[in-house]
Amino acid sequence: MQFNKIPGQDKIKAKLLQSVKEQRVSHTQLFLGQEGTGKLAMAIAFAQYINCENPSANDSCGVCPSCIKYKKLAHPDLHFIYPVIKTKSNDNPKSEHFASEWRELLLEKNAFISLHDWHEKLKTETKQSIINTADCNSIIQKLSLKSYESEYRVVIMWQVERFYREAAPRLLKILEEPPYKTLFILIAENHDQLLSTIKSRTQLVKFLPYPAQEVSAILRQTFQLGVESADYIAQRCAGNLHKAFQDANEKNNDEKYFLLFRSWMRSCLQAKIYEIQEMITQISPGNREEVKRFLQYGQGLIRDSLMIHHDSGEITYRSGAEKDFVTKFSPFIHPEVMQGFYNEFDEAIVQIGRNGNANIILTDLSFRISNLLHTRSRQP
Ligand SMILES: [Zn+2]
Repeated sequence: MQFNKIPGQDKIKAKLLQSVKEQRVSHTQLFLGQEGTGKLAMAIAFAQYINCENPSANDSCGVCPSCIKYKKLAHPDLHFIYPVIKTKSNDNPKSEHFASEWRELLLEKNAFISLHDWHEKLKTETKQSIINTADCNSIIQKLSLKSYESEYRVVIMWQVERFYREAAPRLLKILEEPPYKTLFILIAENHDQLLSTIKSRTQLVKFLPYPAQEVSAILRQTFQLGVESADYIAQRCAGNLHKAFQDANEKNNDEKYFLLFRSWMRSCLQAKIYEIQEMITQISPGNREEVKRFLQYGQGLIRDSLMIHHDSGEITYRSGAEKDFVTKFSPFIHPEVMQGFYNEFDEAIVQIGRNGNANIILTDLSFRISNLLHTRSRQP
């Protein structure tokens, strides 16, 4: 991770770079700020910078052996500690046991992750993940050995609020007297939930929420959104860039889903087998979750078509082509078939979730939809 891959937060970048230039890098730092302000990404970029073999004034080189290992988050002197969970087969979990999941998530999201993302990745719903004693002990043991190859050893502790109190004494000691050329970066969102002993031993680097204007500009560039959509998302995300990215992704998906759904319904209405097959290959390129989301999106359009049919008020949250579609589609979603539509979609979504063959499920669903679309309303 290089600094230039992190949008904005220029003041913090400048401050960190200045500390290196003046050779007064604090060895225990606390990156504090709300979700989606780039703390984790910044911690990695900073660690990469101080270990880069050929850094410029503003960034690491990105190509030296150290940078290349950092890019894969696989440098032997880069350590992460984060909340973990007990599993059936692991009663004493440590961060390193989940290292591949961790790396995968960070690389996929450019290190802009939330605790919710992490829990999803761990496939846990309990939300009881903690940073435990074993983790801290094992890191302390590792740090008592010499560093492998780099200038600085770096320990990044993410979500320090989830720090188990029993683990505190040994860690506090090491924070007070860190081993030679070892940098600790602690990352937290809630100042009030931190042990005061941790706060007093670390130098605070405060991350402010992204200004809305900046978020809008980032979204326009990253997702090719129009000004109106970008502004809308930026206003709603309250400076949380992680949330803004999620919303922008959803918006992009919705546009993609809409075009697919409209064509699919047309093919079903015309009962053109070849076209239906063609559509299915486009809907189902292999990602089950994606197929599920698509079907849920379609179910929403059907629901709104019924609402228009009922004349039960305007669908204010649909506009443009979507609104046009639900209006034209509504005569087909009359009350006699509404339940059928709903059940068929529900059933397909459940089956996809149970690892059924998406191709077969979608083919089957297409024929049922086709039948429903040709069921005329008995009402005058
Ligand atoms: Zn480098």
